[in-house]
This record gives sequence, C-alpha cells and structure tokens, in this order.
Amino acid sequence: MSKIEMKTPLVEMDGDEMTRILWKYIKDELLLPFIDLKTEYYDLGLEHRNETDDKVTFDSAYATQKYGVAVKCATITPNAARVEEYNLKEMWKSPNGTIRAILDGTVFRAPIIVKGIEPCVKNWKAPITIARHAYGDVYKASEMKIPGPGKVELVYTAEDGSTESVLVHEFKSAGIVQGMHNLEPSIESFARSCFNYALDTKQTLWFATKDTISKKYDHTFKDIFQDIYDAEYKEKFEAAGIEYFYTLIDDAVARVMKSKGGFIWACKNYDGDVMSDMLSSAFGSLAMMTSVLVSPSGVYEYEAAHGTVQRHYYKHLAGEETSTNPVATIFAWTGALRKRGELDETPELSAFADKLEKATIDTIEGGQMTKDLALITELKDVTVLNTENFIKAIRATLEAM
Ligand code: NAP
Ligand code: MG
Repeated sequence: MSKIEMKTPLVEMDGDEMTRILWKYIKDELLLPFIDLKTEYYDLGLEHRNETDDKVTFDSAYATQKYGVAVKCATITPNAARVEEYNLKEMWKSPNGTIRAILDGTVFRAPIIVKGIEPCVKNWKAPITIARHAYGDVYKASEMKIPGPGKVELVYTAEDGSTESVLVHEFKSAGIVQGMHNLEPSIESFARSCFNYALDTKQTLWFATKDTISKKYDHTFKDIFQDIYDAEYKEKFEAAGIEYFYTLIDDAVARVMKSKGGFIWACKNYDGDVMSDMLSSAFGSLAMMTSVLVSPSGVYEYEAAHGTVQRHYYKHLAGEETSTNPVATIFAWTGALRKRGELDETPELSAFADKLEKATIDTIEGGQMTKDLALITELKDVTVLNTENFIKAIRATLEAM
C-alpha cells in the first residue's frame, strides 16, 4: 500500500510525561504506517526548553506562523516543584501562554461525542464548542482592600496630562475594590477568530455578556462583535446558512441547557473559564476534549485540552501498566492533518483524518476503551485496555476499514 503524500510540513511540538509516551505510540501505530509524514519537529519537552532557554517554544510559534498549522503535545508548566525535579535554570513560562501571545489567538474547545458515553444533559446531541477570550478582565485586574471610610475613584490620565475620573464608591465602612480593563484590538481579534471559526466549521455562533448591567464595559464587547459582523461577515454567514446572535449571559446559560448542541459559544474570559469546565465534565471526560488555537490571521494550533497526566507517567516509569486515554491527542493530530489537507488541497490527507477519527470512535463504541471511559460508559461487557493495546486496537479497526 502506498503512503499518503504531504505537500507542506506540519509544525510538530512534542511535549512531556505520559502524553509524550502517547505521542510516540500514536505516530508509530496510527500515522507513520499510512502517511509519508512531513513535520518540522520542535521538542517542547521541559528538558529541551531548559537547554534552549525556552527559545524552542518561541521558534515553534514562529514556525506555526510560517506554515499555518501546528499540532502540540501537552507540556509541563513549571512550578517550584518542577524547578527542583528538572533542575531548571528558571521557572519557564507556560508554553501555551507564550504561543498564544505570539499567535494572538482564541482557544476553541469541543468534546468528542461517542455513543455509550452520554452527556449528563440528555438533550445535548452534538458538541458545544466554547470560545474563550484569553485576555484581560479579572485576570489582569488591580485590587485593593479599603480599610475604612473614604472615597474611591477611577482616574484616566491621557498622554497630554488631562484627566477624566469617575466615582467608584463613597465608602462608609471597610470594603474591597477592583479595577479591570480590556483592549479594543484584543476584542476585535477575538471576534474575528470566532467568526472565522464559525464559517470554517459551519456552526452558528452565540455571544453573550451582561451588557444590561455593564453599560460601557460589556456593551463595548457587544458593539464590537456586532460592528465586525455587519461589516465583514453577515453575507458570508448567510451564504453558509449559519447565524450569529447575541444574548444576555444568563439567557445564554438557560438556552444552552435546553439546546441540542452543535454551535459555538463565545465567552468573555471569566465566563469561558467557568463554562468550559462545566461543559467538559457534563460531556463526560477531560480526556475527550479537543482544543484548537485559531489566530485572527487564520493560523491553527491543535492540541488536547488535558495536561501531561503526570500520575500515570510515574506509574509508567515504575514499570506498572497504565490505561491512559489517547483520544484527545489523536484528534489533535487529525484536526491538524485535516486542516493541512484543506489548505494544501490534498483531499486524501483530510480523508485519512476522517477515517482515523471514525476508527477511534468505532473502537470505543465496539466496547474497547481505556479505564477512564470504562468507568463512565453505559455500554455493557466492555474490555479495558492498557495504553498501548488501546492504540493497537484502533490500528486494527483502521486497517479493517
Ligand atoms: P492532567 O494532566 O490533565 O491530569 C489530571 C487527571 O485527569 C489525571 O491524573 C487523570 O486522572 C485525568 N486525566 C487527564 N487526562 C487523561 C487521559 N488522557 N487519560 C486518562 N486520564 C486522564 O492535569 P494535571 O495533573 O493537573 O497536570 C499535569 C501537568 O500537565 C502539569 O505539569 C501541568 O502544568 C500540565 N498541563 C499542561 C496543559 C497543556 O499543555 N495544555 C494543560 C493542563 C495541564 P486519574 O489520575 O484519576 O486517572
Ligand atoms: Mg477553569
């Protein structure tokens, strides 16, 4: 059998711990036998980040800008314990943060739906994708404890020295205060990423804030989305048969619970943080959540939503058997391969990505799965496989197809 050819390389960002082990199994069993895989390889494993003073992370992001599509393995974000464990020169920053700052994107997270792993919300039949604005608001806020009676004001000082101020509160007692901000260019690129992704995946887009209460702050988000939609996307959405609509955040939450799914829900930073955890647990498992960073210029970086599954890695190192779920990492590869196929006009590559996804889902629906899924499935008589054998089972399904 001849292998599928690729025109342009994918940017491949290798990672850490158990997901690094999965990465190699997936390539060896599910990709290399079928594709003449072309990648530009960047080792974002913590040891190599440390050796290169984290330059490799920056280089991988620049390569993503150059080639347009990347696939990333989960990576350790160092904390004090990791600095000691890996004898690091510095507490290197989160690679995802670095990459996001360079590509300036929005992260879209969507669950992988499998029969037998039913969402807690019984009317959800299709995935709900969360688009979280990843800049500002409460995550970049300044806060103060107010010790006793007194006045708090917000003051803006322009470059020419002129000022504008607004009273926050006349305190009669001790209290607390918070000042937060966002930037029009950041909200604009968030909006464009959402509109582009909706067109790309042919799904309706919802956006919600609390503009009735926050008449300047949240209202600006609402206005920016509407202005960009009317000027740049309205006709394209109509042609694609999809919709954009704005509603209040509380109305959105109520409607999401009653919906069938199958749309994108754009959220401000805090709402996205909270709602993505609600959705991933309600859909079943973090190990079944995909994640893609889409830049406003149309660059894509695919990954799994979960981390490096450290606990399983230590078992693996101790020679014990693991049953780590590779599905989200497989779907990171298929997402990247499908996009590469679309951009390069190599439909065989996109068709292979579809087949590998189907083989993965069919394997689970046929009753073979990892332990995390076996614990929550409604299927009877399931076979729990270890990490390597589950990937081999997917290969067998794929070959039979
Ligand atoms: P995690 O790796 O997502 O794992 C947390 C727990 O969730 C695991 O211990 C496991 O539960 C379960 N789990 C997650 N993925 C699974 C999978 N594929 N198969 C089976 N079970 C899975 O989060 P963490 O332990 O908090 O973080 C570990 C490291 O990952 C940290 O160093 C963190 O910095 C990094 N991280 C990276 C990213 C990224 O690169 N995008 C994201 C998050 C965290 P049981 O142990 O109960 O089986
Ligand atoms: Mg969260």
